[in-house]
Amino acid sequence: MKFCLKITLPSLLIVLSYLFLSGKKSIADTATTVSAEDVWGFYGHQKINRLAVFTLPKGMFGFYKKHIEYITEHAVDPDKRRYAIEAEAPRHYIDIDHYHHDSLTPFEYVPRRWDKATEKFTKDTLQAYGIVPWHVEVMQRRLTYAFKDKDFNKILKVSAEIGHYIGDASVPLHTTENYNGQLTGQKGIHGFWESRIPELFSKEYDFFVGQASYIEKPLDYIWDVVESSHSAVDSVLGFEKNLNNSFPADRKYAFDNRGNRTIKTYSRDYSKEYQIMLDGMIERRMRSSVVSVGSFWYTCWMNAGQPNLTELSKKELSEEEKKEQEVLDKAYQKGKIKGREHQH
Ligand SMILES: [Zn+2]
Repeated sequence: MKFCLKITLPSLLIVLSYLFLSGKKSIADTATTVSAEDVWGFYGHQKINRLAVFTLPKGMFGFYKKHIEYITEHAVDPDKRRYAIEAEAPRHYIDIDHYHHDSLTPFEYVPRRWDKATEKFTKDTLQAYGIVPWHVEVMQRRLTYAFKDKDFNKILKVSAEIGHYIGDASVPLHTTENYNGQLTGQKGIHGFWESRIPELFSKEYDFFVGQASYIEKPLDYIWDVVESSHSAVDSVLGFEKNLNNSFPADRKYAFDNRGNRTIKTYSRDYSKEYQIMLDGMIERRMRSSVVSVGSFWYTCWMNAGQPNLTELSKKELSEEEKKEQEVLDKAYQKGKIKGREHQH
């Protein structure tokens, strides 16, 4: 969800003190700076991973349920990694509308297979405009191997992380160059759609989504997810534009207390109107994410020969694994994203 509008405390304080000291409430100028700090926010990603556990069949459910806290907590590691590693950012999105040619749609023009796509566009171009569907495929292979090797730590780690990337692929604004409304004067919409609205309203969503199912063609499946996300981009942007034009400007934003912080965000009334206009879109995208995540886990387990997960025992983290987690957490604390800012 991305998708990270992670604001560090110092930068937030600078913005807020400027606002208050200068006596200006230049809301439009600052909306993008402080609109969302948790981004599917952290909230959405964690919720999706957590709920996906309940889609699993008998042979998997016990193991995942037992480790549901890990699966939930580490749903956001890939976003944290964006603060540590340059190559991480493009794994979270694909600007599919960058690609067009004559009368072909981007989905007709871009080959679904990585090798064919690199032949046509080069790796550098693909990296520049995002690689989320192909990265899900990489993670799917990794998870299958983790199951085959009965590698307890890897199964949990890769399960948590593939859930994140599938969640990102399900977000319309992760599939467009106009990912934060920056090209249409709607800066801040990324966090608004994937963070603010779910935080306010997802308690009312229906998350009984049924069972995970086996995916015959994982690469096609994740491309279909991207395609369906992308088909919603016009609505996501268009509805907000209309709402912005009809809603009283002085009621669009509000200040919200989060612990000892105050952040500027879209007001509850404005959010509610947008949620009504979207007519259940975010709920549908979240629900389909949950099923997709469960189905990928299930498919990897099946393809690995349905290993008995009750036999697995936890391994101590290796020095290398500990170091990796440490680097990740430290870089995240420092709060400087390498690569695109407004994407998860
Ligand atoms: Zn992300």
